[in-house]
Order: sequence, then structure tokens, then C-alpha cells
Amino acid sequence: MTLFTLPEDQVAIREMARSFAAERIAPHALDWDERKHFPLDVLREAAGLGMGGIYISEEHGGSGLTRLDAALIFEALSLGCPTVAAFLSIHNMAAWMIDKFGSAAQRERFLPSLCRMDAVAAYCLTEPGSGSDAASLRTTARREGDHYVLNGAKQFISGAGAADLYVTMVRTGEAGPKGISTLVVPADAPGLSFGPNERKMGWNAQPTRAVIFEECRVPVANRLGEEGIGFRIAMAGLDGGRLNIGACSLGGAQAALDKSLAYMAERKAFGKSLDAFQALQFRLADMATELEAARALLYGAAASLDRGDPDATQRSAMAKRFATDTGFRVANEALQLHGGYGYLSEYGVEKIVRDLRVHQILEGTNEIMRVIVARGLVAG
Ligand SMILES: Cc1cc2nc3c(=O)[nH]c(=O)nc-3n(C[C@H](O)[C@H](O)[C@H](O)COP(=O)(O)OP(=O)(O)OC[C@H]3O[C@@H](n4cnc5c(N)ncnc54)[C@H](O)[C@@H]3O)c2cc1C
Repeated sequence: MTLFTLPEDQVAIREMARSFAAERIAPHALDWDERKHFPLDVLREAAGLGMGGIYISEEHGGSGLTRLDAALIFEALSLGCPTVAAFLSIHNMAAWMIDKFGSAAQRERFLPSLCRMDAVAAYCLTEPGSGSDAASLRTTARREGDHYVLNGAKQFISGAGAADLYVTMVRTGEAGPKGISTLVVPADAPGLSFGPNERKMGWNAQPTRAVIFEECRVPVANRLGEEGIGFRIAMAGLDGGRLNIGACSLGGAQAALDKSLAYMAERKAFGKSLDAFQALQFRLADMATELEAARALLYGAAASLDRGDPDATQRSAMAKRFATDTGFRVANEALQLHGGYGYLSEYGVEKIVRDLRVHQILEGTNEIMRVIVARGLVAG
């Protein structure tokens, strides 16, 4: 159900991703979560269907699709597992940064293998001392001939240890956003190491580790764009990343709602099925309505980014905030509607709640989304 009537090709893209999620992701999602297994083989299969470089140019092996297509894909994949879909989103975001800001030689060198996911990309902005205030990052890159020498650490990096390329924001100049540059750091760069896999509430099907640079040597040829534009590159990546994460929340929450509908048709209390109680029907109605509102906002923001509207950043921030808050609320409500069974892992709802919680925190917290929206409303 959607307010939008999608053209046939977008319906086909969504169906392709839905089938993949139903066949290759959903049956394993609980097991991957429990074992903390990162299913790189399945991600590569997704890449074989064009989902490794969704909005990368076709010339370099990408699918050349739009942000709206991507939102449909990430929402559909998240019906199977939001965590796996979200990692694919981060990989796509990092690959797009290379496509958009890299030179022709860099695009040729990195993108075909990223689109096939023979190489996997991670996005390294956050540091132990700077999260929301990302422009105060302190990882330094000192120029020595045709190399940069990096020192510092990145915190909470999704896919770290498993990824092949780390699109990393480093300080090459003055304090603040204008002193930041972006480097593509290969996994085998000397002086690169990783912290232990963090133990966390959800998102267990992908590793989260610190990335550590100790006199780490990276060729100058791996810098994206000029020195000093790294913060702009990082923020441009996040506009799309935020839409994708919002889409992952929509898909996860929709799966939780679908599970509730099936469960409530079966489960009896006081002589009738749960879905016959009007109080509970109203809750279902509100869940469906709020998800649909979030979907409309998110698709609209994706279309706005596709057009390059001047307010696309604000609309992406609005959509990320609203879709991730709504997604978490709906999933949590679905857990409640399952009663005690919702709290058991085998029903799959508590995993969705755990997974969606972090979407309110990463790719910019939902407080920072409000900062971005408010900046456009209030002068000064
Ligand atoms: C599982 C996981 C995966 C992640 N993956 C990645 C990744 O792949 N790459 C990457 O670079 N980062 C990643 N992150 C990091 C994530 O983006 C940061 O955690 C997030 O940006 C918040 O930064 P912080 O944790 O330092 O919190 P802080 O910035 O310290 O914020 C703490 C609290 O203060 C609030 N706050 C801060 N400043 C303001 C303000 N001006 N106004 C109002 N409220 C404010 C925040 O909203 C938050 O509630 C990941 C995080 C997690 C948990």
C-alpha cells in the first residue's frame, strides 16, 4: 500500500528486492543475529542483482538508479533484515562518494569491484571524541611526499575488519570543517588495525569496530577531490545515507506490523481472536497510518534529492528523523501486541525493535536532524 502509484519499472525493482529478502535474507535473519554472523556471501549475491552500486553510474558497473529506487530497495530488503540492508546502504553510500567526488582514474580503479562487492566499503567519520560534532575530528593526515601518514582512531565503524576500503575523513589542515579531507584507505595499508567487535543491543549481523591508524601510509592518489573538501563530501554522502536508513526503518517496522496481523488473527483471548478487539484494531490502524505518513515523507525527500532541490538536505533530515522514530515506535508497539511472545526471540519482533533502535542514533542522531531542519527555519 502506498500513496504513490509507482511506475512499472519501480514496482519491478521493489519486487526483485522483496523476493531476494524473502528467499535469501528473512529465513536466516534470527540465526545471523544470534551468531553475530556478517553474511558477506549474501551481500555479494545482492550485488549480483545490481544492489552493490544502486546509484553508481552504469559506466562503472553500477545500476544507475535513483534515490527513490534505492529507498524502495532498502525498504524491501529490510522486510527480511534491517541490519543486513543497512550495511548495504553504508556500502552504497561510500561507493557513491567515490563516484561523485573521485577522479576518472579513481572511479575506474575502485568502482567496478565495489559494485560487484568483490570489495566492500566502510564509512569512517565518527571518532571517540567526536560524533555529532564531526567537524572537530582529530585523526591527522600528514603529507610525506606522495603519501599521507595517518594517526588517530575512528569509532563505531560498521563493517570494520571485513571491509576492503575505508572512506575516511581526516584532518589535513586547519581546525573545523575546512581542514578536513577524504581518503580511501585500503584494508592492507601499513599501520591500519581494528578494535574488537563491539557487543551491542542490535545490528548484530554486521560488525562494529574501531579503526586505528598508527603512522598509517596512504597514497595521495587515494584522496577524493581537493584537500579541505572532506567535510562536504562526508555530509553529501549522509544525505542519501539518511534516506536509506529511514527506508530500512520502514521495512523493519512493516515486517513487525505484518507479523502482528498474522499473530493477532491466530491468538485468542476472552473467546475471540486478538484482531477482533476494536481497541487493538485502532492500534493497528495507527501503526499503518504512521508508517504510510513516514513513507510519503521519505519518498518525497528521495525525489527531492534526485532533483537536487536546494532544500534536499533538510527534507532528508526530516524524513530520517520521522521515519526512524516512527519505525521504532511501530516495531515496539508490535512487540506489545504479541504479549509475552513478543519478548521471545523466536517470534522475530524483539530483534526488529533492537535493530531499529540504533537508526535513531546513527547517520546523525535525531537531535542533529532537528538541528539541520531548524537551521533552515530560524535565521542566525
Ligand atoms: C551500531 C553503530 C554503527 C555506527 N556506524 C558508523 C559508521 O559506519 N561510520 C561512522 O562514521 N559512524 C558510525 N556510527 C556512529 C554514529 O554516527 C554516532 O554514534 C552518532 O553520530 C552520535 O555520535 P556520538 O555517539 O558521539 O554521540 P554524541 O555526539 O556524544 O551525542 C550524545 C547525545 O547528545 C546529543 N547532542 C549532541 N550534540 C547536540 C546538539 N548540538 N543539540 C542537541 N543534541 C545534541 C546527541 O543527539 C545524543 O543524544 C555508528 C554508531 C553505532 C551505534
